[in-house]
Amino acid sequence: MSRTPALFIGHGSPLNALAANDYTRRLAEAGRLAPAPQAVLCVSAHWESAGTWVNAQARPKTIHDFRGFPRELHEKIYPAPGAPELAREISALLGTRARGTTLDWGLDHGAWSVLVHLFPKADVPVLQLSMDRALAPSERFEIGRALAPLRERGVWILGSGDLVHNLYEMNPDRGAPYPWAEDFERNVMDRIAARDFAALTAPSFYAQKALGQSHPSLEHFWPLLYVLGATHADDRLAMIHEGFELGTISLTSFAFVP
Ligand code: ZN
Repeated sequence: MSRTPALFIGHGSPLNALAANDYTRRLAEAGRLAPAPQAVLCVSAHWESAGTWVNAQARPKTIHDFRGFPRELHEKIYPAPGAPELAREISALLGTRARGTTLDWGLDHGAWSVLVHLFPKADVPVLQLSMDRALAPSERFEIGRALAPLRERGVWILGSGDLVHNLYEMNPDRGAPYPWAEDFERNVMDRIAARDFAALTAPSFYAQKALGQSHPSLEHFWPLLYVLGATHADDRLAMIHEGFELGTISLTSFAFVP
């Protein structure tokens, strides 16, 4: 079995779950990058917790963790099966880095708004790994490192966040990114392309002012660190989509593939 992809998807607005555009077509193509997965392990910006948990429901419920969107979105269901046995294996694989498995979650919109395009038939088992609020960036990277062997077993690693995510300065009249947003993203993508992952976990990265503007809170950046940890030295970086919405939300998405 060849190594599976490790993907980072910029999910943007929950409305993207219903969209049909260039971005969603690129996600659909990404779902066909490699043979159908045994399962997908998703690290979503929208599941923060005390300690790291793996959800282990056999039938994870679709969580509508947003307000004020069209009824069609609030009623959208993504009925993918879970993978309880694999959840227990992943918890064991993480050892003391994880607290265990839980039935107290499902699929949040960071996961399902992307999965509806990647795997529209909802026939691939999906699990999520929560993000412990207390971890240092380097510890998130190390969890990704511990998850990397799953890629040899048919499990896709999917990080769902945004390379730039500022809800305070969003501008509905603006599709093109603000210069500061574009600069920040370019800086991050340059480091990723150069495989300089240490630069993205270093304390100096988190001390810079530009980070605060692109991420007033960091939860949409964190999934990237898990994905980078799960990469292999000989993976190839494949861009899936580049672009912004509302001037301040990045939809830029990419995969590491063997
Ligand atoms: Zn989000």
